[in-house]
Order: sequence, then structure tokens, then C-alpha cells
Amino acid sequence: MQRQYRDTLPHYINGAWVQPTSGDYQDVMNPSTNTPIGKLGHASKADLDKAIAAAQSGFNTWRRVSAFERSKILRKAADLVRARVEQIATILTFEQGKLLAEAKLEVMGSADVIEWFAEEGRRAYGRIIPARADGVRNMVLMEPVGPVAGFSPWNFPVLQAARKISGALAAGCSIIIKCPEETPGSPIEFVKCFEEAGVPAGVINLVYGVPAVISEYLISSPAIRKISFTGSVPVGKHLASLAGQHMKRSTMELGGHAPVLVFDDVETDGIATLLAGMKYRNAGQVCVSPTRFFVQERSYDKFVAKFTDLARGIAVGDGFDPNSKMGPLANPRRVNAMETTLLDAQEKGAKVETGGKRIGNAGNFFEPTVLTNVPTHARIMHEEPFGPIAVMLRFKDTDEVLERANSLPFGLASYAFTKDAKTATKVSDGLDHGMVSINHFGIALPETPFGGVKESGYGHEGGIEGLNAYLSTKFVSHLG
Ligand code: NAD
Repeated sequence: MQRQYRDTLPHYINGAWVQPTSGDYQDVMNPSTNTPIGKLGHASKADLDKAIAAAQSGFNTWRRVSAFERSKILRKAADLVRARVEQIATILTFEQGKLLAEAKLEVMGSADVIEWFAEEGRRAYGRIIPARADGVRNMVLMEPVGPVAGFSPWNFPVLQAARKISGALAAGCSIIIKCPEETPGSPIEFVKCFEEAGVPAGVINLVYGVPAVISEYLISSPAIRKISFTGSVPVGKHLASLAGQHMKRSTMELGGHAPVLVFDDVETDGIATLLAGMKYRNAGQVCVSPTRFFVQERSYDKFVAKFTDLARGIAVGDGFDPNSKMGPLANPRRVNAMETTLLDAQEKGAKVETGGKRIGNAGNFFEPTVLTNVPTHARIMHEEPFGPIAVMLRFKDTDEVLERANSLPFGLASYAFTKDAKTATKVSDGLDHGMVSINHFGIALPETPFGGVKESGYGHEGGIEGLNAYLSTKFVSHLG
């Protein structure tokens, strides 16, 4: 396995794989063992200046490549990603911890993202507006916004990079992307697919380093015209305010605390099985992971019993072990966060139905956990757990559950399960979230808009909205 990972990982600046010049390095760790597997250098300001200059000249080149040609190159990159799924997924599991099967799905899903943007980039249409005067043409042109600064997180290191890189490139933009320092190897392999597909030098630049230093430097650079960040609400607010100071457009994909509403009219066992699978995927480190389970009172006991059984039965282990059903958390911070969150909930009266403890001393393993009797003032009721903890809550009727589901400042994903069409309509209208999925897990596809409201951020990363995020509107009025 070690041979698949490089000792010292490179950055990609102006079409070359280079070592950064700051002289500072950090270890990259295997979350299953908490042992170092590689080293990663930090970008200096001089490195960032090179990346900015490269992104500017890359933009000047790439914007002139026709949408038709860009599409061909991007589709080739998607084919290369698919052909290398084993290799990229292996690195992803090694550095992030998720099950190899999940890593493969992430890589294949990322190829779908590239391909969808490759197609949609050919449809960045403008329009003609009827003129008031004879001989005048009123035209709306969609132009690439310019060099982009992207910041992607460690929970889906390949998919989150895919969304930002593909959207930017399909629109004709260049990008400097700072991928996560904790999981740098899989984005490197991913970016190589674009390089080998023929993306010109400077169009993609991949850097790593101290996140706050890089984001402040890039956001304030006049060359950078658009910011795209995925991560926590506090960091998102900080970056949005920096973007505001420099009047930069931004897309903010921040955290959530997804409610799931299970009504009495559904068959509980099947829904519990589906939801347990969703909840513990990637050890719960998913911004759209269901976290607050509102179950209607007649079904509550049966649902909780089934869900708890399923959680108890999940084999936790190394992501490469075919028997594992959940891998480690990505870093020791998450294990500490689980412990403090649980301690707080228990001190306030919550009952642990199953789980609640770290597993072993090596690696970041934590038990799939189910909590009941959680009072509203417990931290877990208003802070995103971002880990394998599910909170079970009982409800009586639709109005009451909608109020409780909407009571937090977040609004990313939400879910409901009901057979009643009127309830489904009421819930889809009433949930104050950017995404509502009813009776199945139907969000986060390349062709559908992905994004939140309230403190979960603004802007979208999928669908036509995801392409528009990288386009600016130019109005041209032409007489003669
Ligand atoms: P964190 O808030 O320190 O970091 C979150 C992400 O933002 C990381 O990828 C980090 O590298 C990046 N980051 C941090 N400061 C930055 C800065 N000044 N400029 C640019 N990027 C910066 O927390 P963490 O411990 O890494 O992650 C835990 C929390 O982050 C979770 O509770 C979760 O809410 C959130 N998170 C959300 C997502 C998501 O998909 N929305 C992904 C990962 C983490």
C-alpha cells in the first residue's frame, strides 16, 4: 500500500508538478492507524504568486478554446478518472479512511460530475432581447467569470474537487484549488487526469498549505474573480466576509444538520434500514447526512429499536477490510468532537441506545451511536455532529415537526418519508432547506442543484446553477 502513496507529495503549478518553497512540511496520516504515510509541503506566498500568474495566463488561453473543444478535453478527463478508479480510490481510502467501496463510488461519481459539466458547458446560452429601436440588437452574453480560487474539504476529497474544477473549466475559467492537507494524494491523482486529457498549463493549479494564509492571499488578489468554498459554517462566514471586502463573487457550501421526518404511514423497518445506511456512510462525515431523526409517535419505538439494532451490527474497521461496514473518522479532531458532544448530551440527560465510545487506541475509530431523550438545549441539537451519531426524536403532527425541523439557523438537506401525498406536499413546501428529498435519497447528483439556505451558505454546485456560478452576464446593445 505504501508504494501507492508518494513520500513527498507535489503541488501542481503552471502545468508542472513541483515542490513548494516555504520549507514547511506536515505529515499525512493514515486514519486507521494514526501513522504517517507521506509528507506534504506548504505553499509560500511566492508559490501562490506563481499560481496566480499561471491562473491568469491559463484563463487567457482556456477562455479562447471553444466550448466544443473544452467539452472533448473534459470528457477525456472523465474517461481517465474512470479507468483509474482502483488506483485513485485506493489512495483515497488510505488517506481518508472511508471504505474502499465508498471511495470507488466517490471516484466514479466524480467522473460523472466532469462529464455532466463537459456537456452542459456547451449549453451556456445567452439571449436576444427585442429592441425598442430599429437596427438595435440587444444581446446577453454569458462569459467565464475569470480565475477562480477553490477550497475543498477532506470528507470527499475527490468529489468536492471535481465539482469545483469541472464547473470552473466547463465555463471557461481557470482555477487555483487548495485541496485538503489531510487528504492530498487523491486530488493529485485526480488532477493528473485533467493534465493528461490535455487541459493546458495554468488552467488548473493545485496547492496545499496553511488554509488561512492561502485563502487570505488568494481572495485579496485582484486576479481572482470568484471564490468557491466547501466546509464549516464559521470558516465559510470568515471567507464570505473576506470575499465581500474585495467584492468577489462566492459560492459557500457550508454545514447542515439535516432533519429526517418519518411519518406513521410508512413501513418502519425498510426506512430504518435505508436511513442507517445513509447515516453511517463515510462515518457520518457528510454535510447532507441525516442527523436529527424525527419519528412520529406511533412508529417511534419500533423505528428506534430497528435502527439501533442496525447501528449495533455495523462492523467498524479499516476501509480496506472487506468485512468493514464503516471506516475510521478522518482525523483525531473528529473523535474528540464526538466524545465532547456525547458527554454534553449525556450530562443533560440523553440516553445512549448503542455506541458512544471510541474503539481501540490506534486509529480514529468510533462506534456507530444512537441517542434518545436528547433535550433541546444539548449541543448536539444545534451543532452539526459530522460523525456517526444519530439523534432520535419523537413528534406528534406535521406542523409541530416542521417547526422543530426548521428551528436551527442551518438549511442544507432535509428528508421525509410518508405515503400521503398531501403530507408530502406540505412538507416539501414547509421545510426551509435548500434541498428536500421525499421517500428516497435523491440529492447530490451532477445534474441537480446542490446548495443551502440560511447559514448553510449560498450558491449551488450542481445543475445549471452550478455552471452559472462560474459565468458572468454581459449585456451588449449594438446599433448598426
Ligand atoms: P474546520 O472548520 O477547521 O475546517 C473545515 C474545512 O475548511 C477544512 O477543509 C479546512 O482545511 C478548511 N479551512 C479551515 N480554515 C480555513 C481558512 N481560513 N481558509 C480556507 N479553508 C479553511 O474544521 P475541521 O475540523 O476540518 O472540520 C470539522 C467541521 O467542518 C465539521 O464540523 C463540519 O461542519 C465542517 N465540514 C463541512 C464539510 C462540508 O462538506 N460542508 C466538509 C468538511 C468539514
